[in-house]
Amino acid sequence: MYSITIRYYEELNDFLSPDKRKKDISFSFRGQRSIKDLIESMGVPHVEVDMILVNGLSVDFNYIVADRDRISVYPVFESMDISGVSGLRPSPLRNTKFVLDVHLRKLARNMRLLGFDVDYEDSRDDELLADISEKDNRILLTCDRQLLMRKIVSRGIIIRSRNPDLQIIEVIERLQLKSLISPFTRCIQCNGLLKALPAGSAEFESLKYRIPAGVLEWCTEYNLCPSCGRIYWSGSHYDKLKERVERIMSRILQ
Ligand SMILES: [Zn+2]
Repeated sequence: MYSITIRYYEELNDFLSPDKRKKDISFSFRGQRSIKDLIESMGVPHVEVDMILVNGLSVDFNYIVADRDRISVYPVFESMDISGVSGLRPSPLRNTKFVLDVHLRKLARNMRLLGFDVDYEDSRDDELLADISEKDNRILLTCDRQLLMRKIVSRGIIIRSRNPDLQIIEVIERLQLKSLISPFTRCIQCNGLLKALPAGSAEFESLKYRIPAGVLEWCTEYNLCPSCGRIYWSGSHYDKLKERVERIMSRILQ
């Protein structure tokens, strides 16, 4: 029989029942267990964990728990002085490419609107999402805890909010992405990087048949998505998107 004490910090407590939050939890079990297995058995996905201290020393996920260990588990983006102890990943989780679960369509559009590199399609199963995250080094965003518990997933976070307007704020604040926001640089439909399409250029002349005559009369600035061919210009739709960007920006903590 092994008896240990374990404590979770900050947002990792969201995964625990209220009676276990923010305090030392006494836990007993039989047989050898890795610390990764122990943590996940308590409902906390390993990808949300960035640092584990056992009796004050940092360990990796393969550490085999010993009797009377005192374990502290820290989340990925907890800001604290971790000099001298190692995180659990070879490189910091500051990669800023994402792949989003199928139920996060609105979040995907909002993130692209702010310029983030977001791989999203309507129909993908968990296996494919996990695969893309690993092979393309993308942070997997999902509301599904089980998806992040898949073994191959090493980068991901659970989106807590169910409200699409709040989800974007949650992502930016938790991953500290504010300085990376660059609105209107990416195609909302396909994630392609937009490029300027100067009025009068040869490329513009060859494409302008696709722009409504009423728009050509007054608009001088256009952007082209080279990936899907969509042309963007200022207009009532743009004004609405601009309002949305401003609304999001005003709600992000300074
Ligand atoms: Zn596009």
